[in-house]
Amino acid sequence: MAIKTIIEPFRIKAVEPIRMTTRSEREEKIRAAAYNVFLLQAEDVLIDLLTDSGTGAMSSHQWAALMRGDESYAGSPSYYRFEESVKRCFPFEHIIPTHQGRAAERILFSVTCEPGQIVPNNTHFDTTRANIEYRGAEALDLPCPESADTSERHPFKGNMDAGALEALLDREGPDKVPLVMLTITNNSGGGQPVSMENVRAVSAICRRHGVPLYIDACRFAENAYFIKLREPEYGDRSVAEIARELMSHADGCTMSAKKDGLGNIGGFLATNDGDLARQEKDLLILTEGYPTYGGLAGRDLEAIAVGLEEVVQEDYLQYRIASTDYLGRHISAEGVPIVQPPGGHAIYIDAAAFLPHVEPLAYPGIALAVELYREAGIRGVEIGSVMFGHREAESGEERPAEKELLRLAIPRRVYTQSHIDYVVEAFIEVWRRREAIRGYRIAYESPFLRHFTARFEPVEE
Ligand SMILES: *Cc1c(COP(=O)(O)O)cnc(C)c1O
Repeated sequence: MAIKTIIEPFRIKAVEPIRMTTRSEREEKIRAAAYNVFLLQAEDVLIDLLTDSGTGAMSSHQWAALMRGDESYAGSPSYYRFEESVKRCFPFEHIIPTHQGRAAERILFSVTCEPGQIVPNNTHFDTTRANIEYRGAEALDLPCPESADTSERHPFKGNMDAGALEALLDREGPDKVPLVMLTITNNSGGGQPVSMENVRAVSAICRRHGVPLYIDACRFAENAYFIKLREPEYGDRSVAEIARELMSHADGCTMSAKKDGLGNIGGFLATNDGDLARQEKDLLILTEGYPTYGGLAGRDLEAIAVGLEEVVQEDYLQYRIASTDYLGRHISAEGVPIVQPPGGHAIYIDAAAFLPHVEPLAYPGIALAVELYREAGIRGVEIGSVMFGHREAESGEERPAEKELLRLAIPRRVYTQSHIDYVVEAFIEVWRRREAIRGYRIAYESPFLRHFTARFEPVEE
């Protein structure tokens, strides 16, 4: 019989010590941070699950590649190695490096998007939405109906509602809709994958209406691996082949190399449209840099070139998806309500179901984040009414978000199984005393993106 245990497919060569803290120290730190985990110092966190963006560990091959980095201003060989590596999974004609994903977004929407237009997506990521709205256009989410119920298990809950897209394009046409985007995996929708069937359907609708399709490709390798596991006709195909086929249905993409580029910084914008590429490079020069480095050091381009080769290796992806699933499976077995099924990069806890006695506007996601830090020094992030609620323009009255979630994002190749076992145990403790957990109120907020800097106070009994 073959051994079934899935192991971390790496050994540890350099270690980063974690500073242990006591519960009373953490009580004091979180009070001093006004109960906002963004205001904690990272050194006071034991297991940091705030984000999987730029927080991964580089391999020995990536560190070795840094030394090869060529810092020539124009025409660096590091750029050509980067371009070749990108094209292996992203067969687009023009590859434009940027310092991170949102820079690619800003340039794309600056050249394609006019005020009053609509850009549909399965679910826009927050920077994508903000860059579209900054152009005076509307960012429209068209998630599939299965995504509304957090407890329902569906293999491709990240899909776009293709029928709704078709109806929109029949009504509005290419003058009103300059491009359609598809985010893989669907980050804001719980890290859920999009099926190849859905990509094909969306692509066919776009082509029929003469509207270009762009992929927000941040987690393209995790998405391609889910397709391999869950879409029968792809079981025998390599992840790189699946990624290439997926991209072939699109006209371009935006990418943050801080996710599935296995880099600590970087990104790119890709397109098959030569005219568009020329305009994009002009803007790139204005704010990011010359088109063969785009705001990155040559060594960063080298690290990404190697990262993109490593991220499609199946032993890596098997470990990656299994370790996220492991956390989700173990806490949900204890009764903790999570978004099902576990996504690729993160577990989302349904904080409203965890703390039904805490009103949405007493912020159950914040209450849970604070409790998890107090209990065990673990940092997650609220994705609920603090992040996505809003105030009525006229009355100033506060409206809650649709869901109250706490996200635990797993950095790539950073934590071992015993770290995750520690997280599971912390959850069991917090779950056991959930009825005693109380909500918070906002003592200070800034007028936009308030979650980063808000200060909270416990709600009085
Ligand atoms: C992270 C992310 C972005 C933005 O990338 P940055 O590198 O953080 O600027 C865009 N879309 C999705 C889906 C992301 O997860």
